[in-house]
Amino acid sequence: MTSFNAFVLTKDDDGQHLDWTSVDESDLMDGDVTVDVSHSTMNYKDGLALTGASPVVRRWPMIPGIDFAGTVSDSSHEGIAAGDQVVLNGWGVGETHLGGYAQRARVPGQWLVPLPGAFTPAQSMAIGTAGYTAALCVLALERHGVTTDDGPVLVTGASGGVGSVAVALLAAAGFEVIASTGKADESGYLKQLGASEVVDRADLSDPGRPMGKERWGGAVDSVGSHTLANVLAGIRYGGTVAACGLAQGMDLPGSVAPFILRGVTLAGVDSVMAPMAARLEAWGRLARDLDPATLDTITETRPLGDAPALAEDILAGKVRGRVVLTVA
Ligand code: NDP
Repeated sequence: MTSFNAFVLTKDDDGQHLDWTSVDESDLMDGDVTVDVSHSTMNYKDGLALTGASPVVRRWPMIPGIDFAGTVSDSSHEGIAAGDQVVLNGWGVGETHLGGYAQRARVPGQWLVPLPGAFTPAQSMAIGTAGYTAALCVLALERHGVTTDDGPVLVTGASGGVGSVAVALLAAAGFEVIASTGKADESGYLKQLGASEVVDRADLSDPGRPMGKERWGGAVDSVGSHTLANVLAGIRYGGTVAACGLAQGMDLPGSVAPFILRGVTLAGVDSVMAPMAARLEAWGRLARDLDPATLDTITETRPLGDAPALAEDILAGKVRGRVVLTVA
């Protein structure tokens, strides 16, 4: 019987506990593909899971980690063979299915995306769920007709994972990008990614009016709450907001005015259960428009053992861009 090492989350009357421990391969869950994991990453949701700040984990014990990249060690899935390099994002991995903070993972083959040729496994985790969600958001704006002629596109939470990749992708597609951030000292970073203007997130985070000046043709929002309400209030006639996150809050304390008076569209974006066609389109856009050299500038690489500390940091808004975790 083979075993491997993993972070394992358990829960008892004292709360939840996280241990780096040995796991028997026979304890892995159902799936027709087994992967030797080489890299994972720290997403906001991983921070919630590791700290228990939100009930992300719904199966105990759980190996956390909603993303992983690695090499297939064993497969009975048609079209996937041992030696293939693959990427996993979401599908409940790290929530209801044993996840990626481990040397080995087993999943149904239909959850796996082939590693895009443009990226190394480490770079695919530099993108991770955050970056792939940013691509889904950009595609949602385009699908709803937002073009470069419609005026600037706003990105909130711009220095975070979703935000950083969204800024880079939108700029590469020719959009004028306005980056909203709470970190004034990240202005240079955001301009390097392609933002033409950087605004203070405090301008958007307090309760606002139902409708304001028409400022942006579209927006990618990973913040929610008052910020999303204010973003909607500032969207130009017929524009779209792709909403994917809740860094400020899960509420939406706004008005229907932008919808019924300006025809604004609120496009919800979910990465976890997104169908394979949408995933492949998003990864295709990333391969087309996200320069690996730019990606490297937003990426910090840390050992998997640093995950518990990074979980606290990401929830405190202290992580800039993306973090790759190397799995030894
Ligand atoms: P990060 O922590 O990397 O980025 C979030 C950013 O939001 C921060 O860097 C900060 O950016 C800003 N922020 C943090 N706290 C606040 C606050 N209180 N008010 C306003 N802005 C704040 O997280 P990710 O980019 O990985 O994820 C962002 C959000 O998107 C999360 O809520 C996450 O759960 C969600 N998400 C949803 C997905 C989906 O499938 N729908 C997939 C991936 C992520 P700055 O300092 O620049 O303002």
